[in-house]
This record gives sequence, structure tokens and C-alpha cells, in this order.
Amino acid sequence: MSAIYTRVAFVGLGLIASSMAHAIRRAGLAGHIAGTARSAQTRQVAREIGLVDSIHETAAEAVVGADLVVLCVPVGAMAEIAQEIAPFLEAGATVTDVGSVKQAVIAAVAPHLPDHVHFIPGHPLAGTEHSGPRAGFAELFDNRWCILTPLDGGDSAALDRLVVFWQGIGAHVDMMDAPHHDLVLAVTSHTPHLIAYTMVGVADDLRRVTDSEVIKYSAAGFRDFTRIAASDPTMWRDVFLTNKEATLEVLGRFTEELFALQRAIRTGDGAQLHAYFTRTRAIRRGIIEAGQDTAAPDFGRAKR
Ligand code: NAP
Repeated sequence: MSAIYTRVAFVGLGLIASSMAHAIRRAGLAGHIAGTARSAQTRQVAREIGLVDSIHETAAEAVVGADLVVLCVPVGAMAEIAQEIAPFLEAGATVTDVGSVKQAVIAAVAPHLPDHVHFIPGHPLAGTEHSGPRAGFAELFDNRWCILTPLDGGDSAALDRLVVFWQGIGAHVDMMDAPHHDLVLAVTSHTPHLIAYTMVGVADDLRRVTDSEVIKYSAAGFRDFTRIAASDPTMWRDVFLTNKEATLEVLGRFTEELFALQRAIRTGDGAQLHAYFTRTRAIRRGIIEAGQDTAAPDFGRAKR
């Protein structure tokens, strides 16, 4: 594939940016990849592993001359970065982001950007519990979804170009408005993470279950919770602080269902439990049929 952007600049060089950089190289989607990170240590690692073509000390320097700028920092850091880079953005450049929440990012970024750039918020639905510039790999986005939440009245040519770029990275692209994105993600990602964090916290509190037993018998469901609950604390703090409404809405529904199941257990209502689990099993099959996970034992993770 030929280059879609002449110069792509990453602000933040963690899991998502480094995976994108590998995928961009794999498909030759950019003439030059520039990058910057907050800490000297991350910039040094990126240099050592040759992650990008040029490393810059500041975000302002990194975005100069870029026709695509990708903000890959936690949601809570977006406003400050937008403010910093605004005077240095090229006319006609596209600015996008990969933040897990969209309404808050739009509110944080859009007011700072000049009229002569195209701001197209985005969110690739792919990740692992690992962080940092060494965590990335080119296949992260293959066959996964990237949701773009374009603003009303945005430039359609710039949008089409970003869509082709994400497809070149390996993703399928979908569009939706930001509030809908935030609700969908509250159901599919944010609330499940909160539940995993809670379950792991509960197990840790239960002193009757010794640490060694928790680790030894963790194959039984708990292991998946621990993997999710190992996700980056800063990123997830910001997700809950910025997607408050939708997460609380879904959490309210979750709590009601949990009470209903609790009651079914107490009253010995096997039929209700069986019907509930039959319904949830069908949802799992649907996810596998849609190609978003594998039915392989160990969820196919043994390979990685
Ligand atoms: P990561 O591996 O932890 O990397 C975060 C990067 O942002 C690092 O380069 C870090 O710099 C920088 N950073 C952190 N706090 C900052 C601040 N206050 N100011 C400036 N820079 C800061 O994170 P990631 O997983 O790539 O996530 C990046 C974004 O992608 C987040 O908005 C997240 O919501 C979104 N996202 C994540 C996933 C996932 O599963 N991980 C999936 C989809 C979307 P230093 O290294 O120098 O500290």
C-alpha cells in the first residue's frame, strides 16, 4: 500500500501508539513517523528500539510538518496536549486521538484547535493489559474495530483518508456519534473492567483464600479477571472520571441483575439461573461468530 500521510506524529508512545507505528511500517502508510513522549525514559526506549523515525523532546516540536497527528495519551491529559500543539499544527492537517472515551476528549481538545485543521476523534477497540513503547505489536488492530466519531460539518475528504489509514493498519472502521460511543463502550468495556477490578479486590480482601490458592486455582475464571484488572491504572482512572454518566447507568443495571441472580440462588430458582446462563452463552457464540474472539481453549492466548 502506498503512503496515505506524508508525516504522522504520535504524541504519547505507549501500547497504542507503538502498535500503530509497527502497523504503519508494515503497510507503508506514512513517509515519516515522528513521536514524542512525556518522559525522557520513554523517549529513550523508543529511540533504542527504533520505534519511529524521529523522536522529539516536546509535542509542539513533534507535530511540526505533520499531516496526521495522533494523540495517544490518557484521556485526562488530552486538553493540555491540545493546547500545547495548537499553534504548531500545519494548515489542513488531521488531528485524531485514540482515547477510550469520546465526549470528554471532544470537550477537552476541540476548543483549543485552530479552524485550519480537521479534528476527527477515534477509538481503536483493541488493547492488552501491557503499557509502554515496548508493548506494541503490528497485529494488535488486525480484524478489530476502530470507531470514529466525526464532528458535525467536518471535512469528508479528511475523514475518508483517515478511514483508509485505519483500514491499512488492519482495522474495520465504524462511525457513530460520541454519546452513543460512550454508552456502547460503557457496556462492552468500561463496566466489565470495573467489575474485574472489584472481583480481584474482593479476592484480595478474602483472607480465608490464601494468596497461593488464588494463584494456584486461578484458571477458573478468576485468571481472566486478573488480566483485565492489571490494566493501566491511570488510563482507567481517566476512563471512569470522564465516562461517568454512561458507566453509572450500566452499573445500575448490572447491580439490579446481580440482585436478581442473588435472589434466584437464595430461593433455589434453578430455572431462572439456567435461562439466564443460556442467554449469555448465546451472546458469547455471537461474539465468536463475528470474529471478535476465538473459541480456542485458553481463548487462543497461549500463542502470545
Ligand atoms: P500507555 O501505554 O500507558 O502510554 C501512555 C502514553 O501517554 C505514554 O507515552 C505516556 O508518557 C503518556 N502520558 C501519560 N500521562 C501523560 C500526561 N499526563 N501528559 C502527557 N503524556 C502522558 O497507554 P496506552 O494504552 O497506549 O493508552 C493511550 C490512549 O489509548 C489512552 O487514551 C487510552 O484510553 C487509549 N486506549 C487504550 C487501550 C488499551 O487497552 N490500552 C485501548 C484503546 C484505547 P510516558 O511514557 O513518558 O509516561
